Amino acid sequence: MHTFLPSCKSGSFFIVKDKEFRHIRVRRVRRGEKLKVIWEGSVYLCELETLGRREAKLRILEKIEVGDPPVRITLLQAVPVDLKTFEVIVQKATEIGVSSVVPLITERSFQRREVLIKKKDRWKRIVKEAMKQSGRPFMLEIEDPKTLEEIEAGEDLNLFLDNFSKGNRVRDLNMEGIRSVSIIVGPEGGFSKREVEKMMDLGFAPVRLEPYVLRSETAAILGAGIIMNLAGP
Ligand code: SAH
Repeated sequence: MHTFLPSCKSGSFFIVKDKEFRHIRVRRVRRGEKLKVIWEGSVYLCELETLGRREAKLRILEKIEVGDPPVRITLLQAVPVDLKTFEVIVQKATEIGVSSVVPLITERSFQRREVLIKKKDRWKRIVKEAMKQSGRPFMLEIEDPKTLEEIEAGEDLNLFLDNFSKGNRVRDLNMEGIRSVSIIVGPEGGFSKREVEKMMDLGFAPVRLEPYVLRSETAAILGAGIIMNLAGP
């Protein structure tokens, strides 16, 4: 069943316009056909009532209960030099249920802050597509870029993924009573020694994934995915 993002809600109808309306036409949704809608953090089952020239009207049939993720994950992702990789991470983080992503500028990451700020709209579009695809009802927040000097270890559990770590394995983390987790992930070239010390000083604990060294995007997705599932009921 296809999912759409409407422009507005009016009584027991949603109105779909513009790009989303064009999607309805392209997908050849027929009158009376069922579809899903994501609206203000909820998912609704609807059926197509009318298809006009510029907008579609969807009748709301029922609200579908979608549970909140078991833990709030903030992914502090050192921006890979290849910016396409960051887009993959944003897409997958949305599917996994990560709450927010902070583009992190580190010694070996992509450096140009102004370029990253301009990318935000594009990343938001990627988030919306991933929400539709996965049925996730709430937005993933993308914050402004930060450096290690601008972050703090403010969550219940604060971690950085470290392929050299002799510390805990991610899968051995004790998630009891943990409601929020922050995870820092390095860029393609990893962290410098100074950065590792800085993160420890800030109160982030090193954790590792096994058995191999992963690409930055693989580490981010796997790390967030394992934590999300460890936290589950
Ligand atoms: N050539 C780099 C590899 C970096 S991999 C180096 O030697 O350091 C990119 C990032 O992914 C790392 O900085 C780390 O945050 C994460 N990562 C990759 N594999 C990992 C593993 N097995 N355990 C924990 N983190 C890992």
